[in-house]
Amino acid sequence: MKKTILTLTACLLGCSAAWCRKPDSVRINNRFDIVAENPCRLRQFLNEMPKGGDLHTHLTGAAYAETYFDIACRDSLWLDPHSGRLAPTPDSSATVRLTPDMPDRPAYRTALIDKWSVRNYRSSCQTLPPDEHFFATFGLFSAAADNHLAELLRELRRRAVQENVLYLELMPLSANLYADKIDSICGAGFFDRNNARLRQAIGPDARPEKTDALLAELFDLWENSAAMQECIDRYVATIDSLDTRSAEGLAATPLCRYQGYADRNAEPLEVYAMLYAAYKGCLKPESKLVGVNILSPENGETALADYTGHMRMFRFLDEATGGTVRTSLHAGELTLALVQPEELRDHIRQAVLTAGADRIGHGTDIAYETESCALLDTMRGRQTVVEINLASNEFILGVQGDEHPFPLYRQAGVPTVLATDDAGVLRTDLTQQYMMAVERYGLDYYDLKQLVRNSIRYGFLPEEEKRILMCRLEESFADFERKWSAQLDSAPAADRRSARSRR
Ligand SMILES: [Zn+2]
Repeated sequence: MKKTILTLTACLLGCSAAWCRKPDSVRINNRFDIVAENPCRLRQFLNEMPKGGDLHTHLTGAAYAETYFDIACRDSLWLDPHSGRLAPTPDSSATVRLTPDMPDRPAYRTALIDKWSVRNYRSSCQTLPPDEHFFATFGLFSAAADNHLAELLRELRRRAVQENVLYLELMPLSANLYADKIDSICGAGFFDRNNARLRQAIGPDARPEKTDALLAELFDLWENSAAMQECIDRYVATIDSLDTRSAEGLAATPLCRYQGYADRNAEPLEVYAMLYAAYKGCLKPESKLVGVNILSPENGETALADYTGHMRMFRFLDEATGGTVRTSLHAGELTLALVQPEELRDHIRQAVLTAGADRIGHGTDIAYETESCALLDTMRGRQTVVEINLASNEFILGVQGDEHPFPLYRQAGVPTVLATDDAGVLRTDLTQQYMMAVERYGLDYYDLKQLVRNSIRYGFLPEEEKRILMCRLEESFADFERKWSAQLDSAPAADRRSARSRR
């Protein structure tokens, strides 16, 4: 009997000790000031922290300029040394041939990395403002990117593994349905005739029912066009092949899925055709396309003039395809310096209410929107996610710190995720986005975990795939927290005191 009581007491004491021991995540959060105080320690911590997914990343903007330089030399591309533009063949300005053993290779490499990215932007005599410099880079290195997308994606997969990223949702390429291709599918003269009609149908005086009538006419025509359906099949197959080739031989890789998109500065019929192909591509069985986007500078003259028309295209396509295709729209990536005040009043609103976007890319100008408090309430109610791109907004828009609406969205209960946008051009990575969130907005460890979980929860994956990734994420967090809670427990007392005294 005595032995039984002793055993029971020991057992209770043991259980109580275990019960009293705080979970690792609590212990980390309690000591997070030690981590956050020092940028190097914060980098160490965040490097190793599981980071779920990156839901907003453009493939060609995510690759680094060094990779483009290697490709350009390997392919012996021609260079316009003044602008930094690559060309497959020589022309009046592309007069220098890049090769692996060219003279002055290091000097060219250094100069081109600056031209193809934001590196040294402020110290060099740039003739373009930041937004134009940023968007111009894509045209400069595109000759090196176009035939090497799998190689670029392979680089991103490797980097994602190093950053403990489980999922990438990328924008790799559009269906490329520009005027000539549309005519080759629909017949000569089709583009000019119908683009003019569509331009009128989305014009400032257009009635929504008139717009929808023409969108429906074109939709039906393409539904019955074998050539258009073949084009979509090829688009989906290209994405599938890119996915397979980029992962070949890799021991570890994140899951990659893709968004189709349209260029918002293209002609209206080109935009509509590319959105149509992206929507239909998402619906193909086994397709790795999981969502649709719209991109390129939102302050472009065409983008501004056609904005409402584009939102109606999304709305129409959503209804016509059964409401199952997910959308993330670049919206509100604007500032008062870039556009007139009127253009800041309703882009996010239209993306949410007219287009029915599941996610918003950037959303930087939310505070300028008409009735923005009510819009934030709507976004919270609908669980419209905002993809926050801190490094991107800082360089392209000059929006950072207290000027950025990240805290506004969080206070309003709108779900947010952190994303890179164009990590290569911006010379950044996903870890740095988390660093900025801690250093600038005082986020604690629980906040970071919430953002990481959001990056899987709000991905456009089927629920079962999301469940599997979420399980892997929680396992990774358990390992990470076990290691770091022990590490922080043994942090020198003096270090802790100094960390606190600095606060
Ligand atoms: Zn973007």
